[in-house]
Amino acid sequence: MTRVCTICSHAERHQIDVALVHREPYRHIASRHDISTGALQRHSREHLPALLVKAYEAVERDNAEDLAGEVTKVKEDVHRLKEKAEEEGDIRAALLGCDKALKALELQAKVEQLIQTTPIFNIHLTTEWIELRTAILQALGPHSEARESFLRALTSVSDDSTS
Ligand SMILES: [Zn+2]
Repeated sequence: MTRVCTICSHAERHQIDVALVHREPYRHIASRHDISTGALQRHSREHLPALLVKAYEAVERDNAEDLAGEVTKVKEDVHRLKEKAEEEGDIRAALLGCDKALKALELQAKVEQLIQTTPIFNIHLTTEWIELRTAILQALGPHSEARESFLRALTSVSDDSTS
């Protein structure tokens, strides 16, 4: 039962997510962005990353350490997966690692946007990202197909983050 989520595909998704995280009443957000409250509730429940909500709560409590810990955990998982894939030459695990790395980084970018008052964050300029990308590309070295799809995925992420 997959239904297309009108919020996920909404051009103003980031603003909507931010409003949701700030716990603005559904009907306010709904009327501002011309969407239904039902879609908002569903999106909030099913698609709004829990980490994003946690991140905002951490910021509110002036306790960014929780958040940093969460993000570090995700990154450690990704690195573990990548190393395993490297050892075993497992292309599917490597791809899964890439996918997870991208999701983690996207999430981090969102969290950064939420924290900063000016929502300008260039994921490609962070040292951590550059290191991770290099590691992934190295791991994928012998698998040209995987490498290509990773690079394609990167392009789509950077398109998103500049919008
Ligand atoms: Zn959604």
